[in-house]
Amino acid sequence: MIEYTDARARVLAAAKVLPSGSVPLPQSLGRTLARDIRAAENIPPFTKATMDGYAVRAADTRRSGTAAAGAVELDVLEDLPAGRLSRKTVGPGQAVRIMTGAPLPAGADAVVMVEDTGTAGRRVTVRREVGPGANIGLAGEDLEKGEIALERGALIGPAEIGMLAAAGRHRVPVTRRPRLAVIATGDEIVEPGERKRPGQIRNANGPALTAMAAEAGAEAVYLGIARDRQSFLAAKLRRAKAADILVLSGGVSVGDYDLVKSELEASGVKPVFWQVRIKPGKPVFFGVRGPQLVFGLPGNPTSAMVTFLLFVRPAVDRMLGRAVPGPAAGRAVLASDLVLKPGRTQFLRGVLMREGPALKVAPYTDQKSGVLRSMVHSRVLIVVPADVSGIEAGREVDILYMDGR
Ligand code: AMP
Ligand code: MG
Repeated sequence: MIEYTDARARVLAAAKVLPSGSVPLPQSLGRTLARDIRAAENIPPFTKATMDGYAVRAADTRRSGTAAAGAVELDVLEDLPAGRLSRKTVGPGQAVRIMTGAPLPAGADAVVMVEDTGTAGRRVTVRREVGPGANIGLAGEDLEKGEIALERGALIGPAEIGMLAAAGRHRVPVTRRPRLAVIATGDEIVEPGERKRPGQIRNANGPALTAMAAEAGAEAVYLGIARDRQSFLAAKLRRAKAADILVLSGGVSVGDYDLVKSELEASGVKPVFWQVRIKPGKPVFFGVRGPQLVFGLPGNPTSAMVTFLLFVRPAVDRMLGRAVPGPAAGRAVLASDLVLKPGRTQFLRGVLMREGPALKVAPYTDQKSGVLRSMVHSRVLIVVPADVSGIEAGREVDILYMDGR
């Protein structure tokens, strides 16, 4: 039996970043950037008005004691809509009527908001003084040409897509998604929608683990249920040959029908570890078959999901070239006392809540394994080191988010 951090390190040592390809921009959502993206030009590409109004020389708006009611009058040279370049230069006593987004004409260094002006023919009355730089956006203000816009390993979300679009990218270099095959094992397991005989239960793990794989960014392939007999398992294992990651649930304990370990080894999987000093999830198995990573997760749905998060998720992150979060992702204040039996690193399902500025976490009342309800209500796992037998309310604890973020 090995420690949690040791087991995790062994998984990460075996997981290699996958090669990359490119996809059209709209299809890059949820993918991982394979290399740094630099701005090919300034963003925005030119200095522009950020308000509708008048492009002016700021110095001209300074009120002279002589002007009527403290206002200043300027000559309007032209109207400048967004998308058009002015060929005029704004000289002393002059202004250009300008719309939001239009490039600032030469000579001007500020924009007076239309609300602060009045018009009289080809002249404008400026009622408010502005300083240089008022109501304009500078060229390269968002990003300068050559600057890194997005870093390799970034998860591409809507903001990243906006940035890539602004940078003129229509194809995006992304890391190939790991193919992750899921096999559920057990004679008692029946798919939702199929006829269930007495003594059988619904297959929760197949769908839940496949969903966790998809959520992690893998290309999830669900291969169905293998009965607890060698021939069934061997057939499924053959179908999983092309997967980068193979995840099985059930059959890794020490029961009479727990065939997964021996079958995996018979199919060429080299064991790396079996049994980790954690709770839940102790019977977890990890091995490799060439470049393929193989995980045997315990069948209990909570244990299966927790061990997926602890071991499979970091492997997916690594293969995608993403930053792998540490063994704990954050901290929260414990809302009630914890009393525990020391000996194994524990992952307690926790309910997060905000109390004023504090992020608090309460252990879910029923920590008994196999309670799917607790997984639905708990957003995090509270990580308790193996040697700790209790923690008082009010102390900070490590937490891991169930969605892997
Ligand atoms: P095992 O790890 O195969 O000994 O299974 C441990 C417990 O989890 C048993 O009560 C199983 O019935 C249950 N179990 C195993 N696989 C699944 C599954 N796919 N969905 C729901 N429960 C399961
Ligand atoms: Mg079983």
